[in-house]
Amino acid sequence: MSHMFIPGPVDVSEEVMQAMTQPMIPHRSKEFDELFRRTAEGMQKVFLTQNRVFQPPASGSGMQEAAMRNLVAQDVLVLVNGAFADRWYKVGVANGKSVDRLDVPWGEAHTPEMLRAALKAKHYEAVAIVHNETSTGVENPVKELAAVVHEISPDTLIMVDAVSSLGGVKIETDAWGLDFVLTSSQKCLALPPGMSFAAVSERAMAKAETVPNRGWYFDLLLLEKHRIKDSTPMTPTMQIIYGLDKQLERIFAEGLENRWARHTAMAQRVQSWMLAHDMPALAKSEYCSKTVSTIQNTREIDISGLNKFLLTKGMRIANGYGDLKNKTFRIATMGDTTMDDVNQLLDAFEEYLKIA
Ligand SMILES: *Cc1c(COP(=O)(O)O)cnc(C)c1O
Repeated sequence: MSHMFIPGPVDVSEEVMQAMTQPMIPHRSKEFDELFRRTAEGMQKVFLTQNRVFQPPASGSGMQEAAMRNLVAQDVLVLVNGAFADRWYKVGVANGKSVDRLDVPWGEAHTPEMLRAALKAKHYEAVAIVHNETSTGVENPVKELAAVVHEISPDTLIMVDAVSSLGGVKIETDAWGLDFVLTSSQKCLALPPGMSFAAVSERAMAKAETVPNRGWYFDLLLLEKHRIKDSTPMTPTMQIIYGLDKQLERIFAEGLENRWARHTAMAQRVQSWMLAHDMPALAKSEYCSKTVSTIQNTREIDISGLNKFLLTKGMRIANGYGDLKNKTFRIATMGDTTMDDVNQLLDAFEEYLKIA
């Protein structure tokens, strides 16, 4: 049994792997429609929304592109505080949008005040926010940021990347008034990569009708036409949907509240252990991610040496991302990982610190 403490793809349980061995069925069939409807309804519960949930074949980045192509004709603001927010910015530019960025240094979160000032200076059709920046281990305060958008610029749509948090952290899509919340299968949902999800509001769908050049693959209006018939325009990721159906059963058996609490407890355990070993998280404690800990490599640990050692015990962690490589390392505690797994990792880490 391997334990991957990397921020996706994460380990997939034996039970879910088994579920994915079921035979293929036609995706234009009653059996498939029922399965597809059941997973869409299950995902609405995970997203805490009454909004429609799309389940197309794509990774999370595909849904970043879908948001840009469908919700923005021209002006969009991206809140950038790490690599995945920077990717969303690039996606907007690559799709010909007029994209402004609101940057904060990596390791920091955006404050409601800075967003307020940006929205007062210029009108945007949409604001893009990464909820959990997987490069820096920062959780952006989406609830507070969304409240500012609603107050200052009520017609501005709110797009949220929750790829590395949905299913592990409580995100209140409806209560916070989020118009487009996206995620993918291989992080907190603990499924194989290849499937994406987006919870999309009524007003976002209405906006899409006015936006030209939405393309074909991620056209929300086309996806909606098929969704109401419990399918997708293209061939869906049938195997992952089998896995998702089983995984949703397991998620509701654990209980969403318990699942969120488990994620928080595991991240806090990692962060406090590291701090006790003079290795603080990059983020300030109030913004520390609940799913991935980006730890400052103050002891100048040889990360690849550490990983070689961990691999002898069937475990691995992740190096820092981009410019943060070797300056930080990352420990993801996502999906079905347990506190026992975390303790085993920390024991091995301790052992390595003694011999390295
Ligand atoms: C992993 C990740 C992505 C990219 O998702 P893919 O499924 O790999 O395309 C985007 N945003 C965040 C915050 C991520 O952690």
